[in-house]
Amino acid sequence: MGNVISCFLPGTEFDRAAQGLLGAAARLASACQVPHVALAACVSDTMTEALERHADRVVCIRSGLLSNDHPESCLAAFHAACASLDAQTVLLGQDARSQEMTPRLGYRLGGCSIGDAQSIDMTDGGLSVRRSVYGGKAVAVVRASRTPAVVWIRARAFEPAAERSDSVQTEILDVEISDGIAATQVTGRQEESRTGVRLEDAPVIVSGGRGLGGPEPFEELKKLAGVMKAEVAASRAACDAGWVPPGLQVGQTGKKVAPELYLAIAISGASQHLMGITDARVIAAINTDAEAPIFRHCQFGLVDDWKNVVGPLTERIASLLQ
Ligand code: FAD
Repeated sequence: MGNVISCFLPGTEFDRAAQGLLGAAARLASACQVPHVALAACVSDTMTEALERHADRVVCIRSGLLSNDHPESCLAAFHAACASLDAQTVLLGQDARSQEMTPRLGYRLGGCSIGDAQSIDMTDGGLSVRRSVYGGKAVAVVRASRTPAVVWIRARAFEPAAERSDSVQTEILDVEISDGIAATQVTGRQEESRTGVRLEDAPVIVSGGRGLGGPEPFEELKKLAGVMKAEVAASRAACDAGWVPPGLQVGQTGKKVAPELYLAIAISGASQHLMGITDARVIAAINTDAEAPIFRHCQFGLVDDWKNVVGPLTERIASLLQ
């Protein structure tokens, strides 16, 4: 009969991405008329309780070696668990670890793997996934030809699952992992310094590009972000120039964000940048060039110099909110 399994790797929190992953898995399971199993390892009690309120079954992997969050042991544990749970489809989120694990898990399970799913459907021909290709310029429909299909999804693009009326009891699955499997060793960790909410979870983002001309204008953007209760982000050009830290980069090789409002200031709208903001509900742009590509992708656009707009906009919003 099979299952749809949603995977929650060590340290996953019940954030918008986890909610989207649960939602995608629950709807797919319902369409396939199979149970939705949430499979987790080393997550908090709060996370476990949330899973119990959303999945048909919750299985928590227990293994002495998993606590170190090592990629090899994590892969071995999820492989063993998915194999024992009769996986039909396995869904993972879009964090770096899940993206790394997806093809390896697909291979080990003897199935197939697909990345960057923006929607998932079960058709007569099997599982079908839509994803952006060519830097967001086209959409490809990919059909899984083998089961289980292991898919990482743009979790924030999926609506959260409805809560169950009751909650299920977590089952513990003991998994043996040999301590000799690790071909690599984690020698240290460095936490990204962060104030405020993560860009991936921010409801409003003010983002700056190369057209700002230097690091100082980002101070103006921070003031605007302050009154809008927004987070500041940037294009790769601004990050590469060293004007802001690389952790603020949005796009194909940066963060994928899904705010209610994304305000792009002096950003041209290259396809690689747009790939990071396809899940934004509303995009607004300020740019001096009326032909800038960003204007073809935004709902609100202002052709003007940022210097004429950002200061007065900050003052106006501040006075309106007083
Ligand atoms: P520009 O393209 O130089 O645009 C600056 C804009 O500012 C222009 O439109 C200009 O009209 C406007 N402007 C100038 N002066 C003013 C002013 N005074 N007021 C208002 N507007 C003004 N890019 C990303 O952002 N994220 C990624 O993840 C990413 N990944 C990439 C991956 C690959 C493999 C490659 C090849 C490229 C990637 N890029 C990425 C780079 C991308 O192609 C663009 O080069 C980059 O996004 C351009 O940044 P920008 O819009 O800030 O700069």
